[in-house]
Amino acid sequence: MRSAYLDYAASSPVDPRVREAVLFVMDSLGNPSSVHAQGRAMREAVDTARESVANLLAVEPRRVFFTSGATEANNLALIGYFKRLRETVSAEKPLKLLVSVIEHSSIREVTKRLQADLGVTVEKIPVDADGVVRTDRLREMLSDDVAMVCVMWANNIIGSLQPMEESATIIREEREKRGVNGLSLVLMSDAVQALRTEQVRPSDTGVDLLSLSGHKMYGPKGVGALYVREGVELAPLLMGGGQEAGLRGGTENVPGIVALGRAADILRKEREKDRAHVGKLHARLVAGLRESDGVTVFGDSARSVPGIIYFMSSEETGDVLTLKLDSAGIAVSSGSACDSGTSKTSFVLQEIYSGPAAKQGGVRVSFGRFSTDEDIRCLIEALIAIHGAGGGMRDAGGTR
Ligand code: PMP
Repeated sequence: MRSAYLDYAASSPVDPRVREAVLFVMDSLGNPSSVHAQGRAMREAVDTARESVANLLAVEPRRVFFTSGATEANNLALIGYFKRLRETVSAEKPLKLLVSVIEHSSIREVTKRLQADLGVTVEKIPVDADGVVRTDRLREMLSDDVAMVCVMWANNIIGSLQPMEESATIIREEREKRGVNGLSLVLMSDAVQALRTEQVRPSDTGVDLLSLSGHKMYGPKGVGALYVREGVELAPLLMGGGQEAGLRGGTENVPGIVALGRAADILRKEREKDRAHVGKLHARLVAGLRESDGVTVFGDSARSVPGIIYFMSSEETGDVLTLKLDSAGIAVSSGSACDSGTSKTSFVLQEIYSGPAAKQGGVRVSFGRFSTDEDIRCLIEALIAIHGAGGGMRDAGGTR
């Protein structure tokens, strides 16, 4: 049976060059904190990886902190920031967090904790029909008790690209208005799904905190990083041996970190090539889906990342279609892997689409560097087979 892996947004394949780069660490001795030669070699490996991630983001290496993934990086950014801020302002002082309504669960769930534990008021910034944050609303919502604004760089369900520069400008203006003695205000962005194809430069853009994940950028699972602008103070979540400049205690995941560094190096050099390749596949699949009678494709391709497409079939629910495609050897997703088991219908879809079929949910197809024309053709053919020729599916026209 033919098969196609089209779930890069849940986890992308590890680049073989990344795998190769890690092998030497697996065979090496030493704790990066040890003073002996073996320890120093491990420290050097971690520092080199830090430089690679910093180069990808065009930031200073010492502003990059390694974590166990983006979930931890997001927790550290939000809890760490508000915990530290609460230490400097009175318990009664109102503090507000504005988050886009389409954030990942590792942000959404944390906001509940912040409300309960630290008395932070949380308000949601709405999105438009394409799942793009409404900056007009952001501007209106930016009262003088707002201490953080959280807008993901690209959405993980429908791929909508967010107005990061405009958001950063709005925040910069508000900061200037507050003056040096005003309440601290930062812009946080989860860039996990943007890095595969977008140029992500937090410092140039005006983003103060930014999270990323290894297994969404051709590295392994279980490693990620948080960029923290100079001057932004965070309280650590984990305490221990003082690793990561005291921000994240615990012996470093050296194999994971080395792999992330290599993945970052490759991405920096090959992102443009990846983007062109993925863009072609994206256009082909969208054209194929849009020609189909019973299929609705969500999001405006001009305002989303190439490689993530969300669609809904009038014939069945997203969950059923995902299972049928799995039986046909095609891996897609009916929502975020991190939300599986909690909600069968994507909450993002419900935010942007109020049509009668919103409850049945759709399918997310995501692909990248190693995807081929054949994968896209395989998906289209499987959809034709599932819906029957009369279901409106036509060949997307990929090379045979
Ligand atoms: N943010 C986004 C947008 C994601 O898609 C994911 C992964 N589903 C995460 C955060 C969590 O990343 P990790 O798996 O590294 O914890």
